[in-house]
Amino acid sequence: MTGSLTADHIRELARRCGFELAGVAAAASAPDRARYHEWVAAGRAGKMAYLAGRRAALRDDPRLLLESARSVISVGKLYQTPWPHSTRFHDAECAWISRYAWGEDYHDVMRRGLERLDGMLREEAGAPFESRICVDTAPLLERSYARLAGLGWIGRNTCLINQQQGSWFFLGELLVSLGIAPDAPPPDRCGTCMRCVEACPTAALVAGQGLDATLCISYFTIELRGAIPLEQRAGIGAHVFGCDICQDVCPWNGRAPVTGDPAFAPRQFAPRLEELAAIGADEFRAMFRGTPLIRARYSGFLRNVVVAMGNARHERFRAPLEKLAASGDAVVAEHARWALGRIKTGDRRNVF
Ligand code: SF4
Ligand code: SF4
Repeated sequence: MTGSLTADHIRELARRCGFELAGVAAAASAPDRARYHEWVAAGRAGKMAYLAGRRAALRDDPRLLLESARSVISVGKLYQTPWPHSTRFHDAECAWISRYAWGEDYHDVMRRGLERLDGMLREEAGAPFESRICVDTAPLLERSYARLAGLGWIGRNTCLINQQQGSWFFLGELLVSLGIAPDAPPPDRCGTCMRCVEACPTAALVAGQGLDATLCISYFTIELRGAIPLEQRAGIGAHVFGCDICQDVCPWNGRAPVTGDPAFAPRQFAPRLEELAAIGADEFRAMFRGTPLIRARYSGFLRNVVVAMGNARHERFRAPLEKLAASGDAVVAEHARWALGRIKTGDRRNVF
């Protein structure tokens, strides 16, 4: 083990770098790897190619990312803000954007913090060491290592949950060639609770089997290119980018603290659907530059806005939808025709 570098000391350094949670796990093969491969083989990752194939195999062991790795320093950064949960916000003229995407792109924020932590460790380690920063784009089963590092347990909603601070955390890792005594994972505290499973509007959480991403609103609105399956559109409700419902209803988030980091203050809280339907590609990029929303791309985002309008079933959305039904983007046009059809039927049964 390495000199004065204990997990407690690393927690203190991580706190100074802006991370509310930190812990250490051994850089050994992931105990959940077989389950992960079964999940991919069962088709639950949908069209997310980056989760399958060669990159899936890399998730088996952090030493495939850094050969000399002996420890995984796992960190969590709180992004919860005082604005309401989606389950407590009801305005049929507004769009819902997932909480994690309200502010600055977390990849940049996490990387900056991890670089700082890496620098501090170099000052204190007393000897050179190798390291690699991972922020969710790296193929690593990060929730598994966060659990092993004592940050929390993996809940039925598939999020990492900390007993004191809930689940509104971005996770990141620093793989290091230093041997540091690891922390211990906490017990699973979901117990008999099934709130997230019951609240999921698209039945994407399968009890005992985890998430079926191919049924999840986050998958439809962020990852899926092209048409959203017809039978899934009504369940999407007002969501235009991601979904927070299974975290909103979790009792461990009832008293979750809020961050004071200005990076996560909302740039756009529940924007009006009509305004979103009117923006062009350049405005979309200007409005959401530097936020995770750019990932949906303009065409996908407009498709999602149109679906949310169809679910709101407001007569006032007829004119913007008619305009979009004539769009040169075939996917947007088809979704707009679907949305117009819902306004005509006037059936609001599936509206949140
Ligand atoms: S993010 Fe939404 S759709 Fe996906 S599992 Fe959670 S509640 Fe269900
Ligand atoms: S809502 Fe209940 S079952 Fe779901 S993650 Fe939270 S505690 Fe676990």
